[in-house]
Amino acid sequence: MESIGALSKKLSDYLDPKKVRQVNKAYNFACEAHSGQFRSSGDPYVTHPIAVASILSSFRMDEDSLSAAMLHDVIEDTGIPKAIIEKKFNRDVANLVDGVSKLDKLSISNRTEAEAENLQKMVLAMSKDIRVIVVKLADRLHNMRTLMYLNREKQIKIAKETLEIYAPIAHRIGMNNLYRELEDLAFKVIYPKRYERLTSAVKKNRGGQKRILNKIQKELSKRLLDQGIPALVEGREKHTYSIYRKMKERHRSFEEIMDVYAIKIIVDTPENCYRTIGHIHNLYKPVEGRFKDYIAIPKSNGYQSLHTGVVGLKGFPVEVQIKTQEMNDMAENGIASHWLYKSGDKSDFNPQIRARRWVAGLLEMRENYDSTEEFIDSIKTDIFPDEIYVFTPQGKIIEMSSGSTAIDFAYAVHTDIGHHCRACRINKRLAPLSVPLESGQTIEILTEKVPQTSPAWLNFAVTPRARNGIRHYLSNLKTSEARKFGKKLLDQSLTNMGIKLREIEKNELRKVLKNIGVRSLNKLLEEIGLGQRVGNIVAQQITGFLKDDDIEHKEIVPLEITGSEGLIVNYAICCKPIPGDSVIGHFTAERGLVIHQERCKNILSVREDPQQCFPVNWGKPSGRSFLVQIKVIARDEPGLLANLAAVITGLETNIASIQTMDTNTEIHEFILDLEVSDRTHLSKILRKIRTVNNVVSVTRIHDWEMRQAAALH
Ligand code: MN
Repeated sequence: MESIGALSKKLSDYLDPKKVRQVNKAYNFACEAHSGQFRSSGDPYVTHPIAVASILSSFRMDEDSLSAAMLHDVIEDTGIPKAIIEKKFNRDVANLVDGVSKLDKLSISNRTEAEAENLQKMVLAMSKDIRVIVVKLADRLHNMRTLMYLNREKQIKIAKETLEIYAPIAHRIGMNNLYRELEDLAFKVIYPKRYERLTSAVKKNRGGQKRILNKIQKELSKRLLDQGIPALVEGREKHTYSIYRKMKERHRSFEEIMDVYAIKIIVDTPENCYRTIGHIHNLYKPVEGRFKDYIAIPKSNGYQSLHTGVVGLKGFPVEVQIKTQEMNDMAENGIASHWLYKSGDKSDFNPQIRARRWVAGLLEMRENYDSTEEFIDSIKTDIFPDEIYVFTPQGKIIEMSSGSTAIDFAYAVHTDIGHHCRACRINKRLAPLSVPLESGQTIEILTEKVPQTSPAWLNFAVTPRARNGIRHYLSNLKTSEARKFGKKLLDQSLTNMGIKLREIEKNELRKVLKNIGVRSLNKLLEEIGLGQRVGNIVAQQITGFLKDDDIEHKEIVPLEITGSEGLIVNYAICCKPIPGDSVIGHFTAERGLVIHQERCKNILSVREDPQQCFPVNWGKPSGRSFLVQIKVIARDEPGLLANLAAVITGLETNIASIQTMDTNTEIHEFILDLEVSDRTHLSKILRKIRTVNNVVSVTRIHDWEMRQAAALH
């Protein structure tokens, strides 16, 4: 059991005193909160958070992660609210603790294999900050190490969960040491006899091979020393569960798997990795097809190494991995290893900057090698999916696009559930239908015998399935019903803005209607009731018109948008408008009000139709960012991508994705998706990119969708 004193001493190796003090403060806070609580082992509860923090310190994690580790069970087990943690520490620590607590509440046992995959994604989607996952994995590791104090039933439940959810997540983000230990600990609990048999067989087998293995190691070390390559040659053990899995899945015998010696060689530079492999192939006969260059083409989780298979002494097959120390740390600790190398710099640790840095880090590693499509793919690998994953009350997992609401959920379950939806419970509490859902929540839809479908739902239903369902239902309404509905909705929206429909003068009302593009009030109400127009938007148009003093001379008053309207205003995916672009609003059946660039080809045919389109202007900036796509044409020299990324991230811009067109010439075409605040921001970026070496041209892409389709070929 580690004392806080010993841990603090370890921390002062890489954190300055102020940060160590924060971790100490978190420790004291946890001590007090958990006082009187004990682990099943009989130890005071606080020994657990210390152990978790200690695991994290071996990755040199930052002080906020370590503080969160100290406090990770405080919300769940002692009822201290998140707000107190934020006040006593900071928002990051509070969010991390909250994130870990939310994962604790997931009910994830007894899943089918297909669902386990979705659950892994759910866990990742719930943890927008990668540190939540790392803290959670350390927590799970310590719990697995101390599992023997629980009863058998609990042991099995936790071990299965570890095997199905947490070990694969650790693997996915490259934390392989932790992944292996989790798997072996779980294996030992679930199949104690098989584990016993297998480990003793491995021991026996290794005993017999030791002499040969030593000889090979010595021979290799000597050769590399002679050649002046500083190298560490060590034997490499497969973990028990992976041997078991190979025997089971690939139907191999124990001997077949164990007869291969595995050796790892760590050298100082990537160049020496390549030189080393040359010498090995000179010393032993290489096995055809076994050479893999994961340095030039890293695996999607960032793994880099050279692999080869050779026939060693006395004809024994040997597997060899060659890497640098940094590559080895990456291979063992994955994402966590970035703290190992980046902990020195002072810039803040917000998730966006870190994710950006992770991409930039991958790019740096590649600097000395040719660019390849595989590499680009590895950057795009989604750690955090755009989808959300929620539970039905029966525990089934439903996948939806992020931003979806309970109405979308209802229609996703079944169209009839959608039509009859009256209210919803999110995590057992009644909640408005319009609230965007979050991954991990359990959603229950309360229904009514008669259909409840309301055009008001179009204000917050976002999935095409729900919007079509609602509109289809509404289109069958009688005209009189539709009018009644429409009037109720418009009244509501106008009242919210301090205006009463019946108080608008007849003369003004006529002008307003003309402005909006309908011939009568009844027609307008009918259209709202049928879901062809959105009540909130019409109300905004009316108020905008009435506020304008100079209505006699103004033909049409543009609607003002800022990007903060929420789900009622959508931005066209074909032309991706950003603040500063000339834009136009378009009503659509599926998505409600959609903002297009005025130049967009897709609305050319309807843009003069006031029924469908009306002018909009950008209001005050709302602080949200918009996606924009640019094309960079450049000579593909080593380091190009790294330079591009450095320039872009230097302007506080997030790179959402990078694609490259498959060209066989020296000139390459890169398509980058960037998150920008407006046109000024974008033009700054474009100007800066033009100054990068080897860049031939850079332009913004306006017809986004077609481009993407082309890139998929
Ligand atoms: Mn815990």
